[in-house]
Amino acid sequence: MNLERSRQLFEDAKQVIPGGVNSPVRAFRSVSINPPFIREGKGSRIFDVDGNTYIDYVGSWGPLILGHTHPEVVRALKEAIDKGTSYGAPTEIETELARMVCEAVPSVEMVRMVNSGTEATMSALRLARGYTGRNMIVKFEGNYHGHSDSLLIRAGSGALTHGVPDSPGVPADIAQNTITANFNDISGMKEIFQKRGENIAAVIIEPIAGNMGVVPAAQEFMEFLRAITAEYGALLIFDEVMTGFRVAYHGAQSLYKIQPDITCFGKIIGGGLPVGAYGGKREIMSMMSPAGPIYQAGTLSGNPLAMAAGLTTLKILKDNPSIYTELEEKSKLLDEGLKDNVRKLGLKASFNRVGSMLCMFFTDQEVVNYQSATSSDTSKFALYFEEMLKRGVYLAPSQFEASFVSASHSKADINYTIEQSYEALKRII
Ligand code: PMP
Repeated sequence: MNLERSRQLFEDAKQVIPGGVNSPVRAFRSVSINPPFIREGKGSRIFDVDGNTYIDYVGSWGPLILGHTHPEVVRALKEAIDKGTSYGAPTEIETELARMVCEAVPSVEMVRMVNSGTEATMSALRLARGYTGRNMIVKFEGNYHGHSDSLLIRAGSGALTHGVPDSPGVPADIAQNTITANFNDISGMKEIFQKRGENIAAVIIEPIAGNMGVVPAAQEFMEFLRAITAEYGALLIFDEVMTGFRVAYHGAQSLYKIQPDITCFGKIIGGGLPVGAYGGKREIMSMMSPAGPIYQAGTLSGNPLAMAAGLTTLKILKDNPSIYTELEEKSKLLDEGLKDNVRKLGLKASFNRVGSMLCMFFTDQEVVNYQSATSSDTSKFALYFEEMLKRGVYLAPSQFEASFVSASHSKADINYTIEQSYEALKRII
């Protein structure tokens, strides 16, 4: 495939941007192919600077549940931009978006907008620590919550792909306040709480982990977490940056029927613009400045363009519940087609899917946690990825990421993807 112009642009970028990218996974390190530089996106497609077209299953890593350049989102942005890009003063639309989030997610009575998922989880931890007066945090191996110091420990996503789950630069004094637990392991959690329960401010979890591939937490594990955190007076934080408005309009918590104390959002609530948010019960959120003493702020927080894109996206999702039914149908079709290919070719692979988040793991183990996810053959994944890219299907360039189906994917897109997957798999066995 021709990636000549992308190759040149990547070389240029490397001169002035570390590794040539503003977020590590974009460098395609683990798949040893030059990253295509993207020129444009429309619906389910992205177009690169060399004239290649791809069916996109990354969707900007989750936000684009409606596809690229959705006409209503673009219109809302154009209208907003004519009025100004930022004021650093309150606007009506911030309350509108906050109200939509609160109405969609009953455990959230108040919500604060920030600029990224990283900021959301970082601020949620500060809130949990300030509220409980405790310092320890429990996170799960292979879960990724952004790159703040307390959370970049045994992390998933790019940190896992690039082999640096524990980053240099995180002071040991900070790291020692983060306990890492095994995902889906009730007895491991019991032990942690028996030893340190009185000092634990919060447990943070991706209810459906999407940063070690897709790995849903078991229902009984989630119920156990709710019970043990309540018993010890620790807060339960759901990181729904990826799952919020993705697996269901009311979030992963509606599927588990469990209410966390704090929920973090990002991605979809910004409609493709930089937004994060954290929210929870009024009593807890009222601790945040200026209502309360815990400080957190942002020059561009609640930015009018970001609010316009987010609000329009959520309104479309709310007004068209059939979007979720269709996402389920299309994602199921894709999942079953991929499984069928593997069966026909006599291969071994493991599949996880919740709604429009899915992942094929190159392992014969059932994937339920970090250990089983990392039993995958990543070199086989790299070959598969390259074969798919050549065939016009753009997957996340790592075994440890989710694929996302969007409302803009057609059944023809899905069928094409299944056919090409068969060809790609045939090439690599
Ligand atoms: N939490 C989860 C579950 C995520 O998937 C991500 C990003 N992929 C983050 C937090 C961090 O969000 P951001 O990249 O916007 O900082």
